[in-house]
Amino acid sequence: MTRVLTLNAGSSSIKFAVFSSGDAPEELASGQIESLYSFGGVLSLKWQGKKTKTELGQADHVEGVRAILDAVAPVLDGQGVAAIGHRVVHGGTVYDAPAVLTDEVMATLEKFVPLAPLHQPHNLAAVRAAMEAFPDAVQVGCFDTAFHRGHPWVNDTFALPRRYYEAGVRRYGFHGLSYDYIAGAMARIDPQGADRTVVCHLGNGASMCALREGQSVASTMGFSALDGLPMGTRCGQLDPGVMLYLMEQEGMDAKAISDLLYKESGLKGLSDLSNDMRVLEGAGTPEADQAIEYFVFRIRRELGSLAAVLGGLDTVVFTGGIGENSANIRGKVCSDMEWIGITLDEAANAEHAAVISSGDVTVRVIPTDEELVIATAAISALEDARAAAAE
Ligand code: ADP
Repeated sequence: MTRVLTLNAGSSSIKFAVFSSGDAPEELASGQIESLYSFGGVLSLKWQGKKTKTELGQADHVEGVRAILDAVAPVLDGQGVAAIGHRVVHGGTVYDAPAVLTDEVMATLEKFVPLAPLHQPHNLAAVRAAMEAFPDAVQVGCFDTAFHRGHPWVNDTFALPRRYYEAGVRRYGFHGLSYDYIAGAMARIDPQGADRTVVCHLGNGASMCALREGQSVASTMGFSALDGLPMGTRCGQLDPGVMLYLMEQEGMDAKAISDLLYKESGLKGLSDLSNDMRVLEGAGTPEADQAIEYFVFRIRRELGSLAAVLGGLDTVVFTGGIGENSANIRGKVCSDMEWIGITLDEAANAEHAAVISSGDVTVRVIPTDEELVIATAAISALEDARAAAAE
């Protein structure tokens, strides 16, 4: 049976999964490498109900991909890999769907590095490593921005002189693979209730998306993955005047500001403790409580804003590590929201039930599956390639 690999490369991690292709792709194994570029690199693999860990020492992305290929060799069982699906953060204004990664496409994606300097180079490094290891496999890029490319102009632009829009300074939106999965899940679970949906993707990175009949019409993330909600270490919405102040009064350069906004802010900056919601929920310090309070406040504020964009609300979906697992955060977000039609079912929320509401608006918990979205795109590209070869 044909095997398909998915690779999701972050700045210091690579998540991966092996799927069998078929009408419904089945995940055979999954895992991740954490702490690339440090001496504590570790590869963990889940396969046949067992978890194994391999120490890697100091590895870069290319070495990481090679280690993954070694680790999944038994899963492939001599079958080889027919297609590899890659998560690529930025598809610019060009890609509104997955694309087969030819040399020409790779050259286009290189041009988007300035739009996502902290992520795009790592994504492309993983693609190159995979191309080298599997020159015959179909390589497919799945873009976090693609799902949002249909945004109406007002949600795609900033109020800057027009030339900046033309130059690509736009509200791209991210987490598109997760929203794509949720839109598909909603179409299966509740096609009637999916007209006006707000999805809260709350993980280490966090954003929200307004879906109208399964299409993204607005997102809290904009030009970069910094905007909107506060995140583990990212600031979320920030008055641009703060940046001017940091430059002019504190003498900070672009690198220092980038480090501050991407790595030191959000839950970590506010709590002075941790970027990890579990740690903050258990901490009980005033600063940790305030970090949670700010996180919840911003989600509630955006919920109202996105409901206004949709002209009302039928469904709210919680997903991502926090959205799927923290009854506490979901409860705080949904409290005193009867005015918008949300009534929380506290017992259902405590049990992480699929539906946690009893009011007019249905509130759901749906575990996201970005890997499945990538695998599905890779299989579809593989079928197209085989059909073209057969003609
Ligand atoms: P990423 O954006 O890196 O994929 P995840 O979606 O895995 O991140 O989410 C990570 C976040 O989810 C962390 O803040 C973690 O603390 C939080 N989280 C995971 N499990 C729980 C839980 N049981 N309760 C509260 N928060 C949780």
